[in-house]
Amino acid sequence: MAPSYRKSQEMFEESQVYIPGGVNSPVRAFKSVGMDPPFIARGNGSRMWDVDGNEYIDYVCSWGPLILGHRHPAVMHAVQRCLERGITYGAPTDLELTLARMVVEALPGVEMVRMVNSGTEATMSALRLARAYTKRNKIVKFEGCYHGHHDSLLIKAGSGALTHGVPTSPGVPENIAGNTINARYNDLPLLEKIMAEVGREVAAIIVEPAAGNMGLVPAAEGFLEGLRKLCNQYGALLIFDEVITGFRLSYGGAQSYYNVTPDLTCLGKIIGGGMPVGAYGGVREIMQMISPAGPVYQAGTLSGNPLAMTAGIATLEQLQQPGVYEELNRKSALLAQGLSQAAKAAGASVWFNRVQSLQCTFFTSQAVTDFASASTSDTKRYAAFFKSMLDQGIYLAPAQFETAFVSLAHTDEDIERTVEASFNAFKAAAN
Ligand code: PLP
Repeated sequence: MAPSYRKSQEMFEESQVYIPGGVNSPVRAFKSVGMDPPFIARGNGSRMWDVDGNEYIDYVCSWGPLILGHRHPAVMHAVQRCLERGITYGAPTDLELTLARMVVEALPGVEMVRMVNSGTEATMSALRLARAYTKRNKIVKFEGCYHGHHDSLLIKAGSGALTHGVPTSPGVPENIAGNTINARYNDLPLLEKIMAEVGREVAAIIVEPAAGNMGLVPAAEGFLEGLRKLCNQYGALLIFDEVITGFRLSYGGAQSYYNVTPDLTCLGKIIGGGMPVGAYGGVREIMQMISPAGPVYQAGTLSGNPLAMTAGIATLEQLQQPGVYEELNRKSALLAQGLSQAAKAAGASVWFNRVQSLQCTFFTSQAVTDFASASTSDTKRYAAFFKSMLDQGIYLAPAQFETAFVSLAHTDEDIERTVEASFNAFKAAAN
């Protein structure tokens, strides 16, 4: 029997009266899979339950922060103890010092770090800093990479090879969009051409070192090294947006995993352990330019707030345990292998990408290496796959161009159940 989503549907209807589109972040509305979203009541470990009592194995994990799963006891206890002392003081605490030290010790490219409240704030502030440091205005980003919703980065490619971006959203001024250049992910020759033309005006190249916002697209061998070289050559800063990959690909992030050190690093998600957090960091000489040490202004009423720092510290402490990343990656490989076999058995042609505990099933038979190839995916087939999985209690990202997150809370039995369910779902979405 198909599960009932009646209470969720009623809540979604009423939410649309009070909240634009009924949600506080667009992808939550399930529009691209043509459904209404379940409203979630609680989570525990690898599971979530909706208000109708349906149980799900969760591969969204709040879009990445919950690498330990829901309600990890160490995080819960730490936050509860912190809460007893108060919520926020708007003054320095030892918690900020502790988390900053942990981030600096973990990431080769970070000597100093500033806490903010979201990934968007982190990339926005990093760009301002890069522009101030280099005294240049232009930014290079890659089509299909998402860095948050501020004006400079809400930009898509215009027409032509060397394109200045056009706004992705109404309300982004064209003169701001004109300073952002869109390049192609994994295409170094094109980037070399762009840099040869405007490299001396470029403040920074910003990149997701494993792109997680066009589905999952790994950096090709040599791509990140190539970016590093071009930045050195033209005096631009290299910014790694590690909001997803930080403490995910390894404890030292993508920069350790790929052994390429950026000038600035943006963080979020895992370092807040599920609380609203972002951070940006880098070499001391650049970071010292931030107010009040230097002239580049950036501030935040709730930045570094105690609850968020505490959840982040508790999460990172768990990730420091030996064998954690090996175990995470073993589970992720098991899932990818199972899904791949199930797709084959069901006769569905799909393409799998995986980097450590990030993975994506693309409904295309083509290799996915950039935005254009990701866009060959059949989103109708993904929607059919998604709906069948949801009805069987498997909660995936409600859009083709998102990443699945495996957490330490997922058990081998969860993965087995997921793979079993996927056979029917792949059949429902066969070509
Ligand atoms: N950068 C990347 C790589 C992201 O995936 C996201 C959000 O998903 C952001 C930045 C923006 O972070 P936030 O949603 O916390 O503003």
